[in-house]
Amino acid sequence: MRYCETDNEVKTLLDRVIRKQFIYLKKEKITFAVLLDSKVQIDTKRGSITLARIRPLSEVEGYLVQSEGAYDYFIFLDSVVWELASRKDKMRILSHELRHVYLQNEKRKTIKHDIEDFVAEVKLNADDPGWAKSLAGKAVEEVERRKEEEKE
Ligand SMILES: [Zn+2]
Repeated sequence: MRYCETDNEVKTLLDRVIRKQFIYLKKEKITFAVLLDSKVQIDTKRGSITLARIRPLSEVEGYLVQSEGAYDYFIFLDSVVWELASRKDKMRILSHELRHVYLQNEKRKTIKHDIEDFVAEVKLNADDPGWAKSLAGKAVEEVERRKEEEKE
């Protein structure tokens, strides 16, 4: 299976990030289905591994998951990245993804960032500006290592 459910740690961290920085999402009752994605996605702009992605559920996806509670957005976390990420990195990843959320009336949308990160996030991460690059680098190495292992 390409996708798998995340553990409770993610839910706790996501809740913390929302309370700290995105309280409007709580007020708007926006909910997130978080999944681990084991298929490596390459960010062509960065020439590196994509740490995570976010997108709204399509209408049909929303309809199909109704019984498990309504979700507004999917957050996909790269499974290797997530394994290697520190707690602080995990919060940075979630914070970055939530920054993409854009609510337009009743519509759930996402906004893009031109540079590698949102200006607000760059400021928040001023203590460690290279965190994403370094984490992506580690993940690429780990993916390569596992590929080699499989060959043996
Ligand atoms: Zn992004």
